[in-house]
Amino acid sequence: MRGIVARWLLQMLGVGALVAASSASFATEIKNLQLSTTAEGTRAVFDLNGPLDYKLFEIANPDRIVLDIRASSFAEGFATPVGRGLLKSVRTGKQGKDVRVVFDLAGGVRPKSFLLLPGSSSSRPSKGSEALPGGPSRPSMASGALGLLPGDKSSYRLVVDLFPRGKSKSEIVKQASPPMEKARDVVIAIDAGHGGDDPGATGAAGTHEKEITLAVSRELKRLIDRQPGMSAVLTRDSDFFIPLKQRYQKAREAKADLFVSVHADAYSSGDARGSSVWMLSARGATNEAARWLEDRENRADLVGGVSLDNKDNTLAAVLLDLSQGATLEASGAVANQVLQALTKVGPTHRGFVEKANFVVLRSPDVPSILVETAFITNPAEEKRLKSPEQREKIAKAILDGVHAYFVAAPPPGSLFAANARKGKTEQVASRKKPPDEVAVFADDDPDREILARSPKS
Ligand SMILES: [Zn+2]
Repeated sequence: MRGIVARWLLQMLGVGALVAASSASFATEIKNLQLSTTAEGTRAVFDLNGPLDYKLFEIANPDRIVLDIRASSFAEGFATPVGRGLLKSVRTGKQGKDVRVVFDLAGGVRPKSFLLLPGSSSSRPSKGSEALPGGPSRPSMASGALGLLPGDKSSYRLVVDLFPRGKSKSEIVKQASPPMEKARDVVIAIDAGHGGDDPGATGAAGTHEKEITLAVSRELKRLIDRQPGMSAVLTRDSDFFIPLKQRYQKAREAKADLFVSVHADAYSSGDARGSSVWMLSARGATNEAARWLEDRENRADLVGGVSLDNKDNTLAAVLLDLSQGATLEASGAVANQVLQALTKVGPTHRGFVEKANFVVLRSPDVPSILVETAFITNPAEEKRLKSPEQREKIAKAILDGVHAYFVAAPPPGSLFAANARKGKTEQVASRKKPPDEVAVFADDDPDREILARSPKS
């Protein structure tokens, strides 16, 4: 049920799986069709009055590409352009309630299509706008290969790019992409808990949580920045206080793919021990949704690339709920990976991902986790947290978990996605540290006995 609603709503907004059949019942008006051609290929741009539901397919003998736009019509004055470039001719007509456009081809082509939302610049297609199988559309297609986009920026625009089939993909990519358009890094926002006037918990030996969280966070950033396709930003890189809400706002500003808040746990008795990983509870998400919708500033913001500002309350609430649902699911996946990786370097407190209504985890569209590295109130664990080597092991475990998550769920446009597409996931995986580095404590480590016990249930 949720899936169907999601698809339908996203289509109304012009994002999401546009190629899939849907129950959309609005009528799309096709205002204009413009063709442009360069040495690289031919581009067709449709100006539309709204989002659309379309299908693009190829037919051989003679070669042509057929575009069906469901429940649509031509605006008055629409003129079918004459063929140019790779297009021998263009034919348009009504097919029941749908519009059919046939591109007669001068030779074999590889088509690629995407949708641009009103107001999008010509620099990149809208997020998730890929319409053909074969991975997310390349941002370079909008501006790089086939020149700037014609068409009316205030309209929805459907872009169909046609590349000659003779050229190899890499050849086209080489020509099409300036170096800046290589696969992007996934961005991980690391939040060192507490800071400044807020020391967090304090261990028996006087260690402040805020120092540990900063040291682990810096180490984690160092390790992440060394990884191909990954980069990290810190919400704080020295000893100062940041309000909780600003912590996740910083992550959103950095367009982070993931938010990781680093803490050290505390308990009234000194024997509580082990790391834990937390995610936002469903109740926390529901409460946050209500707050988010009430707050005008938030509504003007983008949630999952969509502004809620001009939506009525019900639609905005449903959209927010969908975004939160996907985000919670992703948070759970990454939390599990990180927890599993942490079990390799020490005990876990409970052995499963825990849920709470933590303020820092409330971003509706950035998967977020909170890692309690160990109990600072446990003297043995406090000692461990004070050791740079032990902190590095903890940071490495977090990195491993995060890395495994991105391999399993590569964000569009990232190196992880590019590698997955090329079927080269194993190359990314092989960059992970060899198993011998996972080994935990030296035999003479006094913490060893305590830390080697099985996790408390
Ligand atoms: Zn804390």
